[in-house]
Amino acid sequence: MNISNLRLGYNIFGNKGNVWSNQCHIAASGLSGTTLCGVPMLSNNWARIEEVDHIGCEECKTQYIQRIEAIGIESSHGTLIVDADSGKVLECNGEGYITKIDRLDIEEYQVHYGIIPDYEDILCFGFWYKNGDYNLPDYEFRKNITNLIN
Ligand SMILES: [Zn+2]
Repeated sequence: MNISNLRLGYNIFGNKGNVWSNQCHIAASGLSGTTLCGVPMLSNNWARIEEVDHIGCEECKTQYIQRIEAIGIESSHGTLIVDADSGKVLECNGEGYITKIDRLDIEEYQVHYGIIPDYEDILCFGFWYKNGDYNLPDYEFRKNITNLIN
Protein backbone atom coordinates (compact mmCIF):
# COMPACT_ATOMS: atom_id res chain seq x y z
CA MET A 1 0.00 0.00 0.00
CA ASN A 2 1.19 3.46 -0.90
CA ILE A 3 0.47 6.84 0.72
CA SER A 4 -1.07 8.14 -2.50
CA ASN A 5 -3.86 5.59 -1.90
CA LEU A 6 -4.73 6.87 1.57
CA ARG A 7 -7.85 8.92 2.07
CA LEU A 8 -7.73 12.46 3.39
CA GLY A 9 -7.24 12.34 7.14
CA TYR A 10 -4.81 9.42 7.03
CA ASN A 11 -1.06 9.68 6.88
CA ILE A 12 2.10 7.63 7.07
CA PHE A 13 4.08 7.41 10.30
CA GLY A 14 7.45 5.85 11.00
CA ASN A 15 10.28 6.22 13.47
CA LYS A 16 13.87 5.66 12.27
CA GLY A 17 13.63 1.90 12.86
CA ASN A 18 10.37 1.66 10.90
CA VAL A 19 11.87 3.56 7.97
CA TRP A 20 14.99 1.34 7.85
CA SER A 21 13.01 -1.89 8.10
CA ASN A 22 10.35 -0.70 5.60
CA GLN A 23 7.63 -1.12 8.26
CA CYS A 24 6.00 2.31 8.31
CA HIS A 25 2.55 2.67 9.88
CA ILE A 26 -0.68 4.55 9.18
CA ALA A 27 -1.86 7.34 11.47
CA ALA A 28 -5.35 8.85 11.46
CA SER A 29 -5.85 12.49 12.28
CA GLY A 30 -7.94 12.61 15.43
CA LEU A 31 -6.48 9.36 16.73
CA SER A 32 -4.00 11.13 18.95
CA GLY A 33 -0.74 9.58 19.95
CA THR A 34 -0.86 6.15 18.32
CA THR A 35 -0.81 4.57 14.89
CA LEU A 36 -3.76 2.47 13.68
CA CYS A 37 -2.03 -0.65 15.06
CA GLY A 38 -1.55 1.02 18.44
CA VAL A 39 2.13 1.98 18.35
CA PRO A 40 2.77 5.23 20.29
CA MET A 41 4.06 8.02 18.08
CA LEU A 42 6.82 9.28 20.32
CA SER A 43 9.56 10.22 17.85
CA ASN A 44 9.71 12.58 14.92
CA ASN A 45 7.88 11.28 11.87
CA TRP A 46 10.90 9.97 9.95
CA ALA A 47 8.65 8.53 7.25
CA ARG A 48 7.76 12.13 6.30
CA ILE A 49 11.30 13.44 6.75
CA GLU A 50 12.71 10.69 4.53
CA GLU A 51 9.71 10.96 2.15
CA VAL A 52 8.85 7.27 2.43
CA ASP A 53 5.69 6.41 0.51
CA HIS A 54 5.28 2.68 1.22
CA ILE A 55 3.26 1.41 4.18
CA GLY A 56 4.74 -1.86 5.40
CA CYS A 57 2.89 -2.57 8.66
CA GLU A 58 0.39 -5.36 7.97
CA GLU A 59 -1.72 -4.63 11.06
CA CYS A 60 -2.10 -0.96 10.06
CA LYS A 61 -3.19 -2.01 6.57
CA THR A 62 -5.77 -4.41 8.02
CA GLN A 63 -7.09 -1.74 10.37
CA TYR A 64 -7.27 0.81 7.59
CA ILE A 65 -9.18 -1.52 5.27
CA GLN A 66 -11.71 -2.20 8.04
CA ARG A 67 -12.18 1.52 8.75
CA ILE A 68 -12.78 2.63 5.19
CA GLU A 69 -15.18 0.26 3.52
CA ALA A 70 -13.27 -1.90 1.13
CA ILE A 71 -14.24 -4.33 -1.64
CA GLY A 72 -12.46 -7.64 -2.21
CA ILE A 73 -12.00 -8.37 -5.91
CA GLU A 74 -11.28 -11.79 -7.36
CA SER A 75 -9.83 -12.57 -10.76
CA SER A 76 -8.04 -15.43 -12.45
CA HIS A 77 -4.84 -13.38 -12.09
CA GLY A 78 -5.11 -12.67 -8.35
CA THR A 79 -6.97 -10.48 -5.89
CA LEU A 80 -7.39 -6.77 -5.24
CA ILE A 81 -8.57 -4.75 -2.28
CA VAL A 82 -10.33 -1.60 -3.43
CA ASP A 83 -11.55 1.55 -1.67
CA ALA A 84 -15.36 1.28 -1.98
CA ASP A 85 -15.68 5.06 -2.11
CA SER A 86 -13.13 6.09 -4.74
CA GLY A 87 -12.56 2.71 -6.41
CA LYS A 88 -8.80 3.12 -5.92
CA VAL A 89 -6.80 -0.11 -5.70
CA LEU A 90 -5.28 -0.34 -2.22
CA GLU A 91 -3.63 -3.75 -2.45
CA CYS A 92 -2.84 -6.03 -5.35
CA ASN A 93 -1.82 -9.65 -4.91
CA GLY A 94 -1.35 -11.18 -8.29
CA GLU A 95 0.29 -10.82 -11.67
CA GLY A 96 -0.44 -9.75 -15.21
CA TYR A 97 -3.07 -7.18 -16.13
CA ILE A 98 -4.50 -6.74 -12.63
CA THR A 99 -1.23 -5.16 -11.45
CA LYS A 100 -1.85 -2.39 -13.99
CA ILE A 101 -5.32 -1.45 -12.71
CA ASP A 102 -5.55 1.97 -11.04
CA ARG A 103 -9.24 2.39 -10.18
CA LEU A 104 -12.55 0.55 -10.52
CA ASP A 105 -15.65 2.25 -11.91
CA ILE A 106 -17.76 2.12 -8.74
CA GLU A 107 -20.36 4.48 -10.16
CA GLU A 108 -21.11 2.36 -13.24
CA TYR A 109 -21.37 -0.77 -11.10
CA GLN A 110 -23.75 0.95 -8.70
CA VAL A 111 -25.98 2.18 -11.52
CA HIS A 112 -26.12 -1.35 -12.96
CA TYR A 113 -26.56 -3.39 -9.76
CA GLY A 114 -27.93 -0.81 -7.32
CA ILE A 115 -25.52 -1.91 -4.59
CA ILE A 116 -21.87 -1.86 -3.62
CA PRO A 117 -20.59 -5.40 -3.01
CA ASP A 118 -18.25 -6.73 -0.31
CA TYR A 119 -16.75 -9.21 -2.79
CA GLU A 120 -17.01 -9.28 -6.54
CA ASP A 121 -15.43 -10.69 -9.67
CA ILE A 122 -13.29 -8.22 -11.62
CA LEU A 123 -15.23 -9.04 -14.80
CA CYS A 124 -18.33 -7.31 -13.37
CA PHE A 125 -16.48 -4.00 -13.07
CA GLY A 126 -15.35 -1.43 -15.55
CA PHE A 127 -11.95 -0.04 -14.59
CA TRP A 128 -9.19 2.34 -15.49
CA TYR A 129 -5.62 1.23 -16.08
CA LYS A 130 -2.74 3.30 -14.67
CA ASN A 131 -2.10 4.67 -18.18
CA GLY A 132 -5.66 6.07 -18.25
CA ASP A 133 -7.20 3.50 -20.61
CA TYR A 134 -10.73 2.41 -19.67
CA ASN A 135 -11.73 -1.26 -19.73
CA LEU A 136 -15.47 -1.98 -20.04
CA PRO A 137 -17.20 -4.52 -17.79
CA ASP A 138 -17.62 -7.98 -19.31
CA TYR A 139 -21.28 -7.68 -20.32
CA GLU A 140 -21.54 -11.36 -21.37
CA PHE A 141 -20.20 -12.47 -17.99
CA ARG A 142 -22.71 -10.22 -16.23
CA LYS A 143 -25.56 -11.65 -18.30
CA ASN A 144 -24.52 -15.24 -17.57
CA ILE A 145 -24.28 -14.55 -13.83
CA THR A 146 -27.77 -13.04 -13.88
CA ASN A 147 -29.11 -16.08 -15.74
CA LEU A 148 -27.65 -18.39 -13.10
CA ILE A 149 -29.33 -16.49 -10.30
CA ASN A 150 -32.74 -16.22 -11.96
ZN1 LIG B 1 1.27 -0.30 12.26
